Amino acid sequence: MSRRVRFVYPRFSRHADVHPELRETVPCNEYFGGPSLGIAYRAAMTPADWQIDFRDDRVEDVGLEDPPDVVAISSFTPAATRAMELADSFRARGSKVVMGGIFPTTCPVEAGRHADALVLGEGEGVWTRVLADAWSNTLQPIYRSGCPVDIESLPLPRVDLYIGKENGSYCPDDYPVQLSRGCMLNCSSCAIPAVLGRTLRTAPVSHGLRQIQQLEEYGKMACLTEDTSFFPGSRQQRAFGELLDAIGDRGARMRVSYVGISMPLILAQTPELFARLRRAGITMFYLVGGFDPITRGAFTGRDTKSLKRAHDAVRRAMDEGIEPYTSFLVGNEEDDEGVFERILEFADRAGLKKAEFAIRTPYPGTPDHDVLLRSGRLLHTDWARYNDANVVFRPARMTPERLLRGYLELWRGFYRSRAGLADLDARARTIQF
Ligand code: SF4
Repeated sequence: MSRRVRFVYPRFSRHADVHPELRETVPCNEYFGGPSLGIAYRAAMTPADWQIDFRDDRVEDVGLEDPPDVVAISSFTPAATRAMELADSFRARGSKVVMGGIFPTTCPVEAGRHADALVLGEGEGVWTRVLADAWSNTLQPIYRSGCPVDIESLPLPRVDLYIGKENGSYCPDDYPVQLSRGCMLNCSSCAIPAVLGRTLRTAPVSHGLRQIQQLEEYGKMACLTEDTSFFPGSRQQRAFGELLDAIGDRGARMRVSYVGISMPLILAQTPELFARLRRAGITMFYLVGGFDPITRGAFTGRDTKSLKRAHDAVRRAMDEGIEPYTSFLVGNEEDDEGVFERILEFADRAGLKKAEFAIRTPYPGTPDHDVLLRSGRLLHTDWARYNDANVVFRPARMTPERLLRGYLELWRGFYRSRAGLADLDARARTIQF
């Protein structure tokens, strides 16, 4: 008898779903990217006697009328409400439901009420056991790998499952490639250390290369989202440099759409690393703000040193020929009502072409969440509204309403003077909103 497992990636709301008026005021295409790699890795490790099916809830029906033996739902917090709703529906139809990903790992009690089993943290080390237990009706409520996964032992993620879902309106030109797991730092808004561990583990260069090569065969680019690649003097940075060289050696065939970085890390890189980035054809940074000391101070109106460093970071990227597509986060403890004007002034003076704006969101698993929960400042735990586009906590120096208004003013104010973007080609005018 064939055994059937269905992987489900639940839908969630993005900026323009919550605020449809952004589609009128922002002259750009919405970036609609592929799922995170959790499902693709789990699928790659599924034994051959299981028949695999993947459903992307964002673009297709999840097949409730045809429930398989096992449903594996992977979710981060913005998709958690939908994930639990789907889990209930599949269980009511007789499927065994296993949930994993960031949300179940950080909120196991809540997620556990909707699943037959949870996989906490990295799932690869326990996945075959979970499937065997599901088949023999001996599922345990919780599975957690005893030790961190050896990235070297991982097979290539099954991104073919994601690419197979593309259609006329959903066709990402890039998919994520994972170069490391875990992080030893403790940024207040980041859940990576809590979910993937507090040690930075580096994937072998060959693993990164083979992932990029695999995407190249599908005509897709790779996005390298991890800022950890730039940690000065680290093993990860050395491996990243080697990866860049290998990409550069292959000329224009292997393509990278962007690399994630922060302002302090731009300033910490050597000219030699920038030369290697250029040789690998990197032309865009996803420059994430709001986590690091420079962007936390630069727009407060009181920290001229950080403001200067922010300008230096953007200038450095531009001088090195890499466009800094910048993500600004508002609502930090330091932010008062003047932060919105100051960010707009900075963006204009720095000459930023494209940017996105996000509201600080205290996701479970982050130090920020613990602090705001303890101080009674969380407004609710409606997880569907934890998505960077809603205010879910009481800010320190303004009202929640003012923060929301300011966030919308940022989108409008920034793009008011950039209407010309609408005339550019699709890639040049695509942003995440
Ligand atoms: S934001 Fe980056 S540097 Fe900070 S904890 Fe997360 S992975 Fe580490």
